[in-house]
Amino acid sequence: MSVLREEAFIDGAWVTALRGGSFKVYNPTDGSCVGEVPSMDIDDARNAVTCAHTAFNTWSQSTAKERSDFLKSWFNEIKKNTDELARILSLESGKPLAEATGEIAYGNSFIEWYSEEARRCYGEVLCSPFKNKQLFHIKQPIGVAALITPWNFPMAMIARKAGAALAAGCTCVVKPAEDTPLSSLVLAYCAEQAGLPNGVFNVVPVERSNAATVGKYLCESPLVAGVTFTGSTTVGKLLYEQCAKGVKRISLELGGNAPFIVFRTSDIEKAVDGAIAGKFRNCGQTCVSPNRFLIEDKIFDEFVAKLTDRIKEKLELGNPIILPQNKQRLGPLINLSQLEKVDCFVKDAVAKGAVIHCGGKLASYLTGGLFYEPTLLSNITPNMMCYSEEIFGPVVSCVK
Ligand code: ADP
Repeated sequence: MSVLREEAFIDGAWVTALRGGSFKVYNPTDGSCVGEVPSMDIDDARNAVTCAHTAFNTWSQSTAKERSDFLKSWFNEIKKNTDELARILSLESGKPLAEATGEIAYGNSFIEWYSEEARRCYGEVLCSPFKNKQLFHIKQPIGVAALITPWNFPMAMIARKAGAALAAGCTCVVKPAEDTPLSSLVLAYCAEQAGLPNGVFNVVPVERSNAATVGKYLCESPLVAGVTFTGSTTVGKLLYEQCAKGVKRISLELGGNAPFIVFRTSDIEKAVDGAIAGKFRNCGQTCVSPNRFLIEDKIFDEFVAKLTDRIKEKLELGNPIILPQNKQRLGPLINLSQLEKVDCFVKDAVAKGAVIHCGGKLASYLTGGLFYEPTLLSNITPNMMCYSEEIFGPVVSCVK
């Protein structure tokens, strides 16, 4: 039986949206439809939060061993379904299949780790400054955790947030990214198979047009005890502000502007290998992707020439499900707005004097319209957008 699920998962049941309605999930490789999920709004989110809040009464009272056992079963179910889950993840995100399979193992390692840590929620006994008082800390679950997650790691970002929350005795409501809700529903399917009690793990797919209202509700609802978010800095700041009203706990993992620094004393071959591995994973769409390549002037030309050659010989754009031999697959960007952003950064840099060594344009010879050629730019200066803003695409920008 396929693990693909096209309904939301609330209170242990597969459900449609209260008001009906659904949205399609498209394969960025060719624009085909991979699935269709309920288009949920604030009332569905409220329903999920209420169920999670009720489930918290019993889940928070479960023993550490019980929670550990549930998480271990969830880990085993995910492991068992790795191939199908990786395929669905690859289809909806455009991530090369080998990387998608890697993501499942990586994400699942958090669930395994938390299944073990669930047993070790120890407190602490302190030295008391008073003869007649004893002081100690105990750790207690806070309640319902709301998880708002991105499309670039559709499985792992949920796994590591939910693993921690569930191990501590909290319950979860997940709002997955609108581009990649199917992976989160497979996680729910695995949770169901693992026998996680009803209401402990809930998934509410929401269209982009409803993300702001549902997000605001999750930040402001008194039934939600904590919000955890991975995504853009702009949205993170907004959620921070919204959580401030209720002094709600929030954890944010936002954008980056990672430098990649090469000194003249470096082993240039190794630096080139590192640049390819770091920059082109998930087509540059990871928060730790190097954004600015800072290269010492004495080796600048050599590094640029070698990296350009390596890009041309090693990377191959194409269908993420079909992996080439002896080459690294580069898939499409996730959606049109991401593609336009990357293209805008390149055009801005070129207009301000950057030099294109390879790529620099849409790979219009491939279907789908979302493939961008791996690109290397030099002559980068701080006034260019790609110097200070997260590129999130297959573009190397070299600064002397
Ligand atoms: P990106 O621009 O890379 O898609 P986002 O930060 O917009 O990054 O998206 C990350 C997650 O945040 C997704 O689940 C998305 O639906 C959600 N999101 C986007 N806007 C809001 C918002 N205003 N409030 C809450 N969540 C939001």
